This record gives sequence, C-alpha cells and structure tokens, in this order.
Amino acid sequence: MTAIRTPTLYQQVVDSTPDGHRLDICLQCGTCGGSCPSGGDMQHTPREVFALLRAGYDDEVLRSNTPWYCVSCYACTVRCPQAIPITDLMYTIKQQAISRGYYDQRAAAKFSETFVGFVEQRGRSFEFGLATRFHLFHHPLQSVRLGMMGLNMLRHNRLALRPKSIRQTEQLAAILSKAKELAAKEMQA
Ligand code: SF4
Ligand code: SF4
Repeated sequence: MTAIRTPTLYQQVVDSTPDGHRLDICLQCGTCGGSCPSGGDMQHTPREVFALLRAGYDDEVLRSNTPWYCVSCYACTVRCPQAIPITDLMYTIKQQAISRGYYDQRAAAKFSETFVGFVEQRGRSFEFGLATRFHLFHHPLQSVRLGMMGLNMLRHNRLALRPKSIRQTEQLAAILSKAKELAAKEMQA
C-alpha cells in the first residue's frame, strides 16, 4: 500500500499561486528584499522567507510579519531576475497563516485592521492616526521613537495632522458592503 504524503507548506504555497513553481529557481540573490519599501520593518526579507520555506521552517514562516507588511507594490516582482511572482506568493503565505490559525496572534494583522478601518470610514488612509492608534495600542514603547520621526515629518510637511475624507463616503460604504457580501459568498462556496 502506498502511503499518502501530506503536502509540505512549500508545496501548498507554490501550488496555490499562479506561476508559483517558479520559486524553485530562486537564486537567493536578495534583489526582492533590496527593492522592498517595507523591508526595514519585516522580520525576514522575502528572500529569507523563501529560504525558510524551502528548508521546512513552516512555523517561522507562518509567524513572520513579512507577508503582513507587504503593501503589494510589486517592486520585487518587477525586479526579480527569475520572474518569480513574489507579491502573489506573499499573499498566499498570508492566506495559509489565516487558514492555519496564526491570524489572531499577529500584531501586523492588527495594523491591517487599523488601516482598513480608516479607509472604510474616510475612503483614504490617515498616516498620523494610523501610526498613533496602532502603536499606542500594540507597541507603546516604540511610540517615543516613532514620535520623533513623526515630528521630523511634520517639520518637512510630510504628515497631515487631520484626516481627510473623500466625497460621498456613503457610496464607498455601499460598495464595500457589497464587496464583503460577495467575498462572504465566495468563502462559503
Ligand atoms: S529577487 Fe527573485 S531570485 Fe532573487 S532572492 Fe528574490 S525571489 Fe529569489
Ligand atoms: S510587493 Fe510586498 S514584498 Fe514585494 S517589494 Fe512590495 S512590499 Fe515588498
């Protein structure tokens, strides 16, 4: 009798991502991490995440804040010499983390929730409110360092103190409500 093997996390991630099998030819060159605007805040660069994934460090990968700090800018995907769909792989890793119950342990997920909350209310992000609300609730000790950075940004006119809203936020609310309804149906299917 042939034993049925459970697919590894690596296999599941590459199988669930369009062109995900290109990850097999990753050169570990580090171009992705070097291109990433969130790299400084990530526990592991995308290159490191892929190395951990291949080596079977599933727990480390699923606990990493890396996919949660990915802002889907596609800079890494565009620059990867092997045309690996890095952004989409990040998305799949995030999905795996959610489906395996790692979601609630994640401060970065809270960051996403805070961000989404602002966008839902006002139709746009509010960096000052996002940073203060998130860090006061989740990383109070980091607030001092970030406060200094915020003051510098204010001095250079790079940070707004008041949130701005788009017009007709009620239309946005209706669109989001419909999108959530469709997403819920898709999840049940
Ligand atoms: S840029 Fe592409 S080839 Fe280089 S480490 Fe990142 S994923 Fe691998
Ligand atoms: S898509 Fe994500 S991982 Fe890639 S460079 Fe942008 S933020 Fe970084």
